[in-house]
Amino acid sequence: MSDVREVIIIGGGPAGYTAALYTARANMRPLVIEGFAWGGQLMITSDVENFPGYADGVLGPKMMEDFRRQAERFGAEFLTDDVTRVDFSQRPFSVFVGGDEFRAETIIVATGASARQLGLASERSLQGKGVSYCAVCDAAFFRQKEVVVVGGGDSAMEEAIFLTKFADKVIVVHRRQEFRASPIMFDRAQNNKKISFEVPYVVEEILDDDDGRVSGALLRNLDTDETKTVSAQGVFVAIGHDPNTELFLDQLDHDEEGYLVTQPGSTATNVPGVFAAGDVVDHIYRQAITAAGMGTMAALDAERWLATVRHGHPEAALAAQR
Ligand code: NAP
Repeated sequence: MSDVREVIIIGGGPAGYTAALYTARANMRPLVIEGFAWGGQLMITSDVENFPGYADGVLGPKMMEDFRRQAERFGAEFLTDDVTRVDFSQRPFSVFVGGDEFRAETIIVATGASARQLGLASERSLQGKGVSYCAVCDAAFFRQKEVVVVGGGDSAMEEAIFLTKFADKVIVVHRRQEFRASPIMFDRAQNNKKISFEVPYVVEEILDDDDGRVSGALLRNLDTDETKTVSAQGVFVAIGHDPNTELFLDQLDHDEEGYLVTQPGSTATNVPGVFAAGDVVDHIYRQAITAAGMGTMAALDAERWLATVRHGHPEAALAAQR
């Protein structure tokens, strides 16, 4: 069956591209179905200062281009399209992109996670008209304006601090007195004169002006139920992420939040031959470097699993270059 590949990697972020690099160097000729949103969350990140090796920092999109190019150099193939369906019920496994079927002996799922939304109708209707999920992408539109940032984690602090480069006033709205953000990020935000905090508040409604653009937010105090309106031309939602696992939920084990579950110390899922790596599995660390590390693990796991199926022992994989 010549059309059956050794490995298909679904997803084009740090985990997927690192898995592609390793499987390409092991002569597994990976096909990476990277999605239209290839690069993942790094594409909406500015300076990455904590990826070892980039001593002077690097822009997120540049880093993803580097990852991709490095895998390509060793023969990884890319399909810039979204997977629409998978069938892991029998081997070889099938991955569908619309009407096209791709088959492989092993699969590495590395589809990452996406920004969470508040779920307000006004939030949806004002997306691109002042509502944003990415300060790095959109902050420059808010020069000398007032903006709201929703959330109490590191993302919210990072976005708030970044926004102060442009906006005159940044209001962080958080639903609890306690913050999830790391102390260093929280302190930086607190010490920034342009940033103020509204806690424990939720955004009840995003308000717009006659031109259909964001003009403010209606906030509700969770302790007192009192409401008030703040003026803002932008609302940045930074309340965490959800795993991109919809395609797999009926076939792969997952937790309550939808993150895929792998065996301890391994990237193996409940389906032998299907592996998962990066933010699609990890809701604790969520770093580019940990995702890349898991991508390496998934590549080695897939290679050894295939060697065991073909030759009876995983050591057969050790002869491959890496
Ligand atoms: P997070 O840590 O899960 O924080 C999400 C925040 O949003 C929480 O404060 C949460 O409130 C709030 N929230 C969730 N749903 C909400 C809703 N429907 N309405 C209002 N508020 C809501 O997510 P994150 O900030 O994106 O960070 C994720 C991970 O990435 C963390 O491990 C973080 O350390 C890491 N990260 C690191 C950096 C950095 O080091 N530079 C930057 C960004 C992210 P509750 O606290 O009440 O649940």
